[in-house]
Amino acid sequence: MKRVLVTGGAGFLGSHLCSALLAQGNDVLCVDNLFTGRKTHIAPLFREPYFEFLRHDITLPLYVEVDQIFNLACPASPVHYQFDPVQTTKTSVHGSINVLGLAKRVKARILQASTSEVYGDPEIHPQTEAYWGRVNPTGLRACYDEGKRCAETLFFDYHRQHGVEIKVVRIFNTYGPYMHPNDGRVVSNFIVQALTGAPITLYGDGMQTRSFCYVDDMITGFLRMMDSPPEFTGPLNLGNPAEFSMRELAETVLTLTGSSSKIVFRELPPDDPRQRQPDITLARDKLAWAPTVGLADGLRETIAYFRRLLAA
Ligand code: NAD
Ligand code: UDP
Ligand code: UDP
Repeated sequence: MKRVLVTGGAGFLGSHLCSALLAQGNDVLCVDNLFTGRKTHIAPLFREPYFEFLRHDITLPLYVEVDQIFNLACPASPVHYQFDPVQTTKTSVHGSINVLGLAKRVKARILQASTSEVYGDPEIHPQTEAYWGRVNPTGLRACYDEGKRCAETLFFDYHRQHGVEIKVVRIFNTYGPYMHPNDGRVVSNFIVQALTGAPITLYGDGMQTRSFCYVDDMITGFLRMMDSPPEFTGPLNLGNPAEFSMRELAETVLTLTGSSSKIVFRELPPDDPRQRQPDITLARDKLAWAPTVGLADGLRETIAYFRRLLAA
């Protein structure tokens, strides 16, 4: 039985990861300051004898004994990470130093949840791991993008300088149950708007594209990456290459919910990337990983979750 630390374990991805790790027979320590995470996400896990929750902010040191670390702590949506941008950078930078210091001391393997945002508004398409990105260092997204870029730097320097076993995954847009209903992300916005009969807010002309990965596929990717050979550090793209315009997404959500909400157009936020699609050749080659859940199936599960949430 491995002792596994999940920072950000009460969040959207973290709560799914904690469940999957428990199902595999691990001893799971979930650390979260509950900024965007919720205890209700992990409530069913409190019944498990090998699940433990610690309310803690990773910008402060943490002394625990573990075998593996998944570092997911960091608000992920623009409304949340821009609420206290200095704290966002601290979470990525000071937080990474603390968990890397911990990994170094206890000789734990550590995985960093990085992001496609390290590519910024990309000039190449789709993005491969070799692309260095085009990020505005002083814009509103910089606290998140540059924070995550610096975190990657720290991971690679702890690896080179201290021999820490690292795994860096760059996550592309992921959705599913336990997303926040009001985090401003497109999938949750459109579903909540459709279910409540509110107008569907399409930013810009709605022709910008994203690729959406269902949460179960992403968690499989995390677990495979953690178990990959020690010399394979990443960075590794994880995401679903199927690309859709926001207009297509709005129409699909309207069809699947049977909603009569109207589509309205709103101004495009600054620095909003036009296009984003992962090149997952490396994940296919190294991990034999590829997403298996299509958009309509994943959206059905997510819509069912939001229906329950809104009815509660
Ligand atoms: P989330 O906001 O639901 O989860 C983040 C969790 O971290 C929350 O539970 C929050 O309370 C916790 N947290 C934040 N700051 C903390 C701190 N200083 N100390 C302790 N806990 C803290 O977001 P998510 O979508 O589950 O994202 C998880 C990770 O994956 C994040 O690092 C995010 O950057 C990354 N990611 C997610 C996506 C996505 O599409 N969901 C895409 C790219 C990257
Ligand atoms: N740290 C921690 N838990 C540990 C070990 C270290 O939180 O079990 C933190 C501690 O705050 C330290 C940071 O991680 O400052 C970086 O550790 P490292 O050993 O790299 O550097 P130090 O600052 O101790 O020289
Ligand atoms: N978006 C939209 N309507 C919304 C929320 C978002 O049209 O109500 C657009 C947004 O402008 C962006 C895309 O959907 O082009 C994805 O936005 P999200 O914030 O979910 O993710 P990110 O921009 O980080 O990929």
